[in-house]
Amino acid sequence: MDVTQFNVDELFQKSIVWDAHCGMDPQVPIDVNSLERIRKAGFTFVSTNVGYDVLPWHDTFSVIAGYRKFLSDNKDKYILVSSVADVLAAKREGKLAVSMDIEGVSALDGKIELVETYHRLGVRQISFVYNKDNAGGGGCHGANTGITPFGREVVREMNRVGLLVDGTHCSPRMSIDMAETSSKPIIISHSNSRALHDHPRNIWNEQAVACAHTGGVIGVTGIRIFLTKAGDNTSDIELLVRNIDHYCELVGPQHVGIGTDFAEITNALSTRFANATDYWPPEHYPAGANLGFVDIEMFPQITAALSARGYSNKDISGILGGNFMRVAAANWE
Ligand SMILES: [Zn+2]
Repeated sequence: MDVTQFNVDELFQKSIVWDAHCGMDPQVPIDVNSLERIRKAGFTFVSTNVGYDVLPWHDTFSVIAGYRKFLSDNKDKYILVSSVADVLAAKREGKLAVSMDIEGVSALDGKIELVETYHRLGVRQISFVYNKDNAGGGGCHGANTGITPFGREVVREMNRVGLLVDGTHCSPRMSIDMAETSSKPIIISHSNSRALHDHPRNIWNEQAVACAHTGGVIGVTGIRIFLTKAGDNTSDIELLVRNIDHYCELVGPQHVGIGTDFAEITNALSTRFANATDYWPPEHYPAGANLGFVDIEMFPQITAALSARGYSNKDISGILGGNFMRVAAANWE
C-alpha cells in the first residue's frame, strides 16, 4: 500500500490500527461494551487479556471460552485471529480482529506444555509477569529479579510454537533477559517511558533499546498515572505523543506502536485495584483510585498529532499498527 498520498483521515482509515493490549477485566461474562467501543473507534486489531496472575490461573479457560463463544456468535462484526491473514481479512471486511493474551506465566501452572494448549485455543501473546515476581521471573514492583530457568524455557517454547513474548509489567532486568533469550522479536506491548515519568510500571530506556534490538516494538499506553503526575492538565493526546516522540528518537519509528490498555472501569475492577495491594502497591496506585484510562475514541487523534509534528505518512502508519503487525508475522507464521 502506498500511503504517501493520503490525507490524515484517509491514513487512519487505510492503515492497520493495532491495539497490542486492552485492559478489560478477564472475567465472565466478558466485557462486550469495551470491545464494541474499540471496534467503533476504528481499530483493526485488538489483543484482549484473558487471564492474569491476580486471579486463579484456571479462570483463564472460562474467559477464553467466553470470548470464543461471543466471537463465534458475532462473526458479522468480529474475527478471532489465528494469523496475520485474519487481521488483513478483518481490515478488508470492516471487522475487528480479536486476539487473546495472558499477563503472567502463573497461567501455565508450571506446565510448559500449556503454551501449545493456549495457542490452540487462540492465545497469541503472553507477558511473563504481572507486577509481582512469579515462577517466570521478576515483576516491575519486585526487587529487579531476572528471568528464571522456567522463564527461559517458556520463552523458547513460545518461540517454537509461535506466540509473541511480551516484556510489559516485568522488572528491568527481566525484560532485558527476555529480549536476550528470545530468538524472535519481542514486544513490550503497553509501557510508557520512565525517563519521562518515573513510575515503576514504566520502562527505562535500556529496556526499550533491548526490545528494539530484537526487531521488536514498544506500545505506548493510555493510563494517566503512567503518563504523568496527578494534577498535570496536559491533554491525553499530548502525553501519548510525548511518549511516541521519546521512543522514536530513542529506537526509531519502526519500533513504536500502541497498546491502549483501555477498559471501562467496572465495580469489580475498582474493588480489586484497592484490595490486591501485593499487585498494586498503594504507594504507586493510590487506594481505590480510578487509574484514569484514556478513552479509546481519543486514539485516532494520534494520526493528526503526529502529522502536525512532521512525521511521514509511512512512519505514522507503522506506529498505528504496521510495526506490531510486522512483529506478529515474524512470531506467528
Ligand atoms: Zn497490563
